[in-house]
Amino acid sequence: MVEKHSPFATHYSQLSRIFTFHMDKAIIDKYEPIIGLEVHIQLLTKSKAYCADSTEYGGLPNTQVSPISLGHPGTLPMVNKKVIEFAIKLGIACKCNITRENQYARKNYFYADLPKGYQITQHLTPICTGGYITINTPNGKKKVELTRIHMEEDTGKSIHDQDAYDTLIDLNRAGVPLLEIVTEPVIANADEAYQYLTELRRLVRYLEICDGNMEEGSLRCDANVSVRLKGAEKFGTKIEVKNMNSIRNVQSAIGHEIERQIEQVEKGVVLTQQTRSFDAAKGTTFLMRTKESADDYRYFPEPDLPPVIVTPRDIEEVRQTLPPLPEELLEKYTGTFNLSNYDAAVIVDNKEFALYFEQLTQQTTNYKAAANWMMGDIKSYLNENAVTIKEFPLPAFKIAEIIALIEQGKVSYTMASQRIFPEMVKNQSKTAQQIAEEHNLIQESDSSVLEQFVAEAIAKYPEKVIEYKGGKASLLGLFMGEVMKLSKGKADPKLASKLVKDALDK
Ligand code: ADP
Ligand code: MG
Repeated sequence: MVEKHSPFATHYSQLSRIFTFHMDKAIIDKYEPIIGLEVHIQLLTKSKAYCADSTEYGGLPNTQVSPISLGHPGTLPMVNKKVIEFAIKLGIACKCNITRENQYARKNYFYADLPKGYQITQHLTPICTGGYITINTPNGKKKVELTRIHMEEDTGKSIHDQDAYDTLIDLNRAGVPLLEIVTEPVIANADEAYQYLTELRRLVRYLEICDGNMEEGSLRCDANVSVRLKGAEKFGTKIEVKNMNSIRNVQSAIGHEIERQIEQVEKGVVLTQQTRSFDAAKGTTFLMRTKESADDYRYFPEPDLPPVIVTPRDIEEVRQTLPPLPEELLEKYTGTFNLSNYDAAVIVDNKEFALYFEQLTQQTTNYKAAANWMMGDIKSYLNENAVTIKEFPLPAFKIAEIIALIEQGKVSYTMASQRIFPEMVKNQSKTAQQIAEEHNLIQESDSSVLEQFVAEAIAKYPEKVIEYKGGKASLLGLFMGEVMKLSKGKADPKLASKLVKDALDK
């Protein structure tokens, strides 16, 4: 069961607001949607996949284009080793088989922004096969199986909206390394697709192989969608939907496409293979092109690149460089640390934030308090100052000092949060204890001192003591208030309340 307050629960409830089914639920329920996703990620290498041109985003058009990027006669491509390393990283993280002998192939087609007339890609020997990405569903965890991950290169960009008559071409992107990650047709609905992409994006960000920015196109997703009657043996005709620039849009495009296909099938239309485009404004899809027959890319082995051999030792070397992965951290936080799914998910969402928490939990074993500080005071600080955890001025051990001070009963959480924390952010040279002492914030937790206050408080209201003994338990608050007043707000509330109760119950 997904917990009520988990972020996953939020996604599911938001979904129903995004697209409402117009069709009878009974009709929809007759069908089973099947989805497979093809994701391209742009790799964060400095240079391109097969030459030294810069991959930097946002450069002046056509300034990062050497004759090699253009495939001019006499030029030779060379493999960028970082691309192999990044592919292996992702492969290990997804528990794939890593291919030993990696051949490159030419995928030939004509397009204006494809300067060579072909892409150098992998055809028969994708660098990773098998493996999976685990997602959360309302029925528990599910492994979304991967078919393959292969290396390829990006095309240039056609720009249609800058000139009144012509399409402009920017070839800076041509040759930027990509990984294509293809799932098996095992995704059951739009929500699962949403979860899958969220997990995948988080993973590539943790691995620091891609920035995962869908708006800028560094992570792109094509969704293959089909529907079939429940119980049918064969898959329905798959239709590919493109041009979604956010995970939320992928979710709504799939939701809409499922509904549209069911409507068509119900009308007796025989679906044919198509590529459709998502219209974000309308939340619908429209026809881009029909696929009468399979595309013929005339694949053949790339004659200018020898195969790259990946040995078990290479894989081991890459494994040593892997950061902690989000799934492992989640497991640890909800397991060993006993945090709620919600808390764990919020902390793990961002790698740097999670790494800070990792440091903090090496300094304190009060994991719950550590999580509360992360999600409360620290997050508020980051929001208020519009900074990331990387720019947060306090090292983790300073937060651990505050947590320890509260644990020892020396200060209350309120005092720590309102007085010590802000003071510490301004001045890191003092310990939490020093700040507490200087500002006179140390709680009174000497029981002999407190007992005196308690005795005074009780002596002040003899008739209330009788009422209390007569069963009016709520009067405890009155005595506690009095003790607090007498101690000038510094009585350790836990201890004081125990002493008041003991005294009254005597
Ligand atoms: P193509 O050769 O057209 O690219 P692939 O077999 O490589 O097709 O599959 C591409 C993607 O489509 C994969 O993610 C796969 O899981 C998915 N897919 C294949 N068949 C179907 C189907 N009937 N319905 C939905 N998705 C499908
Ligand atoms: Mg394919």
